[in-house]
Amino acid sequence: MPHLLLVEDDASIRTALVRALTGRGHVVSTAADGLAGLSLAVDLRPDLIVLDLGLPGLDGRSMLSMLRAVSAVPVIVATARDDDASLVAALDAGADDYVVKPFSAESLDARIRAVLRRTAGDIPARSLVVGGLEIDVRAREVRLDGVAVELSPKEFDLLAYLAARPGEVVTKRELLTEVWRLPYGGADKTVDVHLSWLRRKLGESAHEPRYLLTVRGVGVKLVEPAG
Ligand code: CA
Repeated sequence: MPHLLLVEDDASIRTALVRALTGRGHVVSTAADGLAGLSLAVDLRPDLIVLDLGLPGLDGRSMLSMLRAVSAVPVIVATARDDDASLVAALDAGADDYVVKPFSAESLDARIRAVLRRTAGDIPARSLVVGGLEIDVRAREVRLDGVAVELSPKEFDLLAYLAARPGEVVTKRELLTEVWRLPYGGADKTVDVHLSWLRRKLGESAHEPRYLLTVRGVGVKLVEPAG
């Protein structure tokens, strides 16, 4: 049975969701604020976290950033309908999916199962190596020529996605769907901006690429540098 951690400060929503999700075959632990959620996430190692973004004290997005430094556990964020900015920030900080309040337990359960299926299938070999680039997928660590490179969660996801397909051209649309989980929205610019940050951290640029080659009008591919 999947073990879920629900981080939600509203006691009535919490109680209702625990009842509904338990009834649908999940084991559910709960936390009422971000700090408690963070420590339970580390101690209990749940299979998935449902995280309310509007929490007192440490908010959901900050908690997610801290969590992502130590864990790749799948996270679904719950957000208010009118809060696009914090939703985008949460997806950028490494959320896997989201639900908009008010949502039914049934739709949340469907999202949970989809994310669990996706993440179960998606964990590639522990480490991906392309030239001098070494990516430890589970520890979420990157080394370039033996030196650690600090990446944001999305930069890491982007690099790991490309490194799992060396030499293969990947379109920006595919990256928005698979890395950002935005199959219908999102702008190519999101990909461009993260690519340029990633390039800078890998010590290269669009004009002098080594690993990350842009294929004009098509997309990008990660290659072993020549020479
Ligand atoms: Ca709340």
